[in-house]
Amino acid sequence: VSEPGVPDGRRTGLDIGGSKVQAVVTDAAGRVLAEARVPTVAGPDGVVATAERALAALADRLGVPVDGLGPVGVGVPGLVDPARGVLVHAVNLGVGGDGLDLADRLHRSTGLPVRVENDVNAAAFGAATCLGLLDVDLAYLSIGTGLAAGLVLGGRLRRGARAAAGEIGHVPVDPAGALCACGQRGCLETVASGAAIAAAWPVETDAAPAAHSLFRAAEAGDPAAVAVRDRVADHLAAAVRLLVLTVDVDLVVLGGGVADVGDPLCHAVAAALDRQADDTAFLRALDLARRVALVDGTRPVAAIGAAMLADGTA
Ligand SMILES: [Zn+2]
Repeated sequence: VSEPGVPDGRRTGLDIGGSKVQAVVTDAAGRVLAEARVPTVAGPDGVVATAERALAALADRLGVPVDGLGPVGVGVPGLVDPARGVLVHAVNLGVGGDGLDLADRLHRSTGLPVRVENDVNAAAFGAATCLGLLDVDLAYLSIGTGLAAGLVLGGRLRRGARAAAGEIGHVPVDPAGALCACGQRGCLETVASGAAIAAAWPVETDAAPAAHSLFRAAEAGDPAAVAVRDRVADHLAAAVRLLVLTVDVDLVVLGGGVADVGDPLCHAVAAALDRQADDTAFLRALDLARRVALVDGTRPVAAIGAAMLADGTA
């Protein structure tokens, strides 16, 4: 949809996180034309005001009025009804069960068409865009505080009937495991996530996030760190296996805060997949270790994906 005064294909994406918003304007191919970051203010009114500030900052960078930004896609953590643009239960953003009609409120204050998407789905679409892989089937495994996946199948996002597709963090894997925030016991997220790493490898200062500290110590040969790293890698490998055995995606892309560890994480997960395939010709034939990849951690994939989803075609 081309707006009057907006060059063909220009669109805007916001990735609203608990502490900051990453904002981009892109062209139709997802190339970034302008970029901005603003701090997040929590609460329904705070989130709307934060989005407005991010849009104003982008317009300023581009030297255009806000209504020249094109359609807007917004990625948010929490439960999203993409059809209505309503966000509910986003604990990180201070939005509770009453919900926030973010698309409608942002449209009324800016005049721009607005779509709202779950942030992991937005990141999945952004990863497929950035890797030039919209023509294959891809899963994006977000390893942040929690664990969730987004599915891009044949160039389209697969949201599912209740927008719960890819919520594999809440597949129970250990009936005797820890109680999960979702109310079940032993969810994958309780053993394979940033929070699980922080619990298994507590760091004394918050200068280095737990995952970085863990992988550094493991590479330096600390046997306790090696054991924790390999256990986490085994559980992440289980997540990769689950995704491939469910939809047989070509590629599982690792993302989220823990993926900032980079190649050492990717190698650990690939090594775990190889270990697990040792005694099974069935798994060896699936070549899982060669189907894990990373997205360039310096690129704002969720914001780019939100922009690519802004016109509602995917
Ligand atoms: Zn759970």
